[in-house]
Amino acid sequence: MSVFVATGADAKTMNTSATGGNYDWLRLKDGEKKRVMFLTGTEKFASYYAHNDFQRKINTHACLAPTGQSCPSCEGGISRRLQTIVLFWDIDEEKILVWDTVKKHMNAVYSKIDEYPEDYLDMAFTIKRIGGGNQTAYDMSPILRLKPEEKERADKRDGAEIPELDKLVNVKTPEELRQMLAGIISDSELPSTPEAEF
Ligand SMILES: [Zn+2]
Repeated sequence: MSVFVATGADAKTMNTSATGGNYDWLRLKDGEKKRVMFLTGTEKFASYYAHNDFQRKINTHACLAPTGQSCPSCEGGISRRLQTIVLFWDIDEEKILVWDTVKKHMNAVYSKIDEYPEDYLDMAFTIKRIGGGNQTAYDMSPILRLKPEEKERADKRDGAEIPELDKLVNVKTPEELRQMLAGIISDSELPSTPEAEF
């Protein structure tokens, strides 16, 4: 079973790390922007539950509960939120941009898709970050026209090798999570290793 809890239309309804290969992560600072096209339609958007607690140095990792396994991070009370992965094509860098983001920011994406339901896959957009911290917002605005050479760069997305979703998410085994949490949260909070069943 997969850690993904929804894809495509379901990801929208629910919408309550490392770099490798020919892709990069979309990470903008306040005021930065990128010119992008959607690499896939909404049917390939995928949502999963992510745990993290940066103050306690717990990096983002997938919640195991949707796989049917017990999730040590859930049991340890590590905060969890729904995240969605969207793949863009960076027109200027000619590479895939992976955006792993939260519901609030997905609204900027879905609002453009709702506005251009027939055309969004053929359109270029500027995605811009506005603000920082809790005030962070993203804006997507259509680019009215690309120059011929820019259009050529944009068209290269057709040959892009789309990374597998499972490789984009940090998935650990229950045992790895227990080991990771052991040094961070106190024993009283830490779930015990389930006893073997005979
Ligand atoms: Zn969990």
